[in-house]
Amino acid sequence: MSKRNGIKSELIQSCRMEVLKNCPICGSELFEPFISGKDYFLTGEAFGIVKCRSCGFRFTNPRPEASNLGKYYESTDYISHSNTQNGLFASVYQLVRKYTLGRKLSLIRRFQKNGEILDIGCATGQFLNFVKQNGWKTTGIEPDDKTRHKAITEYGLQVFPEENLDTFQKASFEIITLWHVLEHVSELNERMAQLKFLLKPSGTLFIAVPNCNSFDAKIYGEFWAGYDLPRHLYHFTKADMKLLAEKFGFKIVKILPMKFDSFYVSLLSEKYKSGKMRWLPAFWNGLLSNLKSMPVNGHSSLIYVLALK
Ligand SMILES: [Zn+2]
Repeated sequence: MSKRNGIKSELIQSCRMEVLKNCPICGSELFEPFISGKDYFLTGEAFGIVKCRSCGFRFTNPRPEASNLGKYYESTDYISHSNTQNGLFASVYQLVRKYTLGRKLSLIRRFQKNGEILDIGCATGQFLNFVKQNGWKTTGIEPDDKTRHKAITEYGLQVFPEENLDTFQKASFEIITLWHVLEHVSELNERMAQLKFLLKPSGTLFIAVPNCNSFDAKIYGEFWAGYDLPRHLYHFTKADMKLLAEKFGFKIVKILPMKFDSFYVSLLSEKYKSGKMRWLPAFWNGLLSNLKSMPVNGHSSLIYVLALK
């Protein structure tokens, strides 16, 4: 499993796989291989990304069956599921996360003055707790039992498992947020339809996802941490998000960069490529990504602000 190329056993995943026959966005049956990579974070298993010949959308295919995806999150290191601060990397991550909480709230306030926020994939609830302290009504969805329990006990938040999304009333929320979540969701179309159902007609939807057209994605290739195989099932560009939004009656009203992600993703990518935390090259590539990615292809991660048409 450890050799980089050509080992047959790398191609055998330890769980059942699902093969997508149609492009999740346009439905085309014609794809071509785009890139092969591995789960550099946890299992070392090999996975591939295909590109739709019709609309250009890139997605992980084949992918672990939805019921088996949980094992790819079974690590104490899965950083968004943790509030601990061990090591320099985790400390910096937590510092940046605190800073970005303020940025996210001021972004939301540009579009909605008050109301109820639904945060899907709320992890340990730091963002929801922050907005709750600032006067918003909050509801969270978190599929991982332990992480959800942490959000409930540490902050007293209302957080539910994923299946509860079906129980909410139509047009319940002024704001729905998915911070680095949509790329993990097995049923992309069903989820988009659900978001449309749950959002108030005048509401705003915020979707943050990695951008596989960014400079750092091109520099690191298969080692780019934004692919995060097989946890990331879809690899979005601005064009893909526009198609997806329109398919479900949304329009993109704004696209904003997440500039810290260029550094964070470059550092992880350096680790996957060289086995070491190479801070200097990561910082340099992160900086270049922020400088060079503008304005056409976009930064390492982007926040899409959507409204119903
Ligand atoms: Zn397509």
